[in-house]
Amino acid sequence: MFIVKKKLQLLLLVSFFAMHLSSASQQDYPFKLFARAESGKQMLLAQNNGPAPILVTVNLLNPVNATIDRPSPITVVVPPGETISIATVHITVPGQQYKISSSYKFSVGTPDVVQNPDATYLLPFKDGQEITVGQVLGGKISTHSGLASKYAVDFTVPIGTPIVAARKGKVVDIDQNYSEGGADPLLKANHVLILHEDGTLGLYSHLTQNRIPVTFGQRIEAGELIGYSGNTGYSTGPHLHFVVLSNTRTTDGTAQYLSQPVKFMNDTPAHELELHQYDKLVTHHHASPKVTTFPHPLHWSDSL
Ligand SMILES: [Zn+2]
Repeated sequence: MFIVKKKLQLLLLVSFFAMHLSSASQQDYPFKLFARAESGKQMLLAQNNGPAPILVTVNLLNPVNATIDRPSPITVVVPPGETISIATVHITVPGQQYKISSSYKFSVGTPDVVQNPDATYLLPFKDGQEITVGQVLGGKISTHSGLASKYAVDFTVPIGTPIVAARKGKVVDIDQNYSEGGADPLLKANHVLILHEDGTLGLYSHLTQNRIPVTFGQRIEAGELIGYSGNTGYSTGPHLHFVVLSNTRTTDGTAQYLSQPVKFMNDTPAHELELHQYDKLVTHHHASPKVTTFPHPLHWSDSL
């Protein structure tokens, strides 16, 4: 799940030479916590080698033979490409072992960003694509009941339908290894996550396995191909789940994604769409090519 990466109650045995934070699970986003010894202290650092800001919450508890310079939970945002200090551990009796139990979790996105009110979105398909609105706010809701999916839209399209970016941004998460789909909330969906310039995130989910032509960190324009629709994850029929998210932190420092309303534009000249469940639409983002006017009426079959 891209949304919250958890490190659950890792008990750290911290020696006086080095402090190791390790994890049993593999993480795909290049973020890590590590410690550096510095004249009788241990500096705990967070390193973000990825393309997105990371919200991290760290708990450092039950110190033995050590003091920590700030209370837990410690919540910070680590900008892309940066390493910042999380806390400093002072060893009470140098030369003796010390212990701290720790856990941390992190998620992609700066908390509490506000979506640009002028931001508009394309329907995330190529021109001329026929789509049906399967699920949208205001219609019968079967799976969009959480805070992260209230404003999500399900577009019913056949497997293999090209998906384009609805808004420009930077690719900050990709998952494309999953093949299974069905009525099981635990199944994982392939997805692409795009960071927009206002800090919101566009999520394109249930994509086809191993058919994502974009790369981690790539900048994408609206209308660019980012993958193909599928039926992976918690999905009972082929569709694209599209939602715009902003990260936020709750009082205990944990991250919670909130879905945001989306202004979809279509047609030429563009106008804002109000989507309703079971609407059938054809995408049309660009002006039609100019039609040459002939001096005498001709059938297309005659002229081309
Ligand atoms: Zn959905």
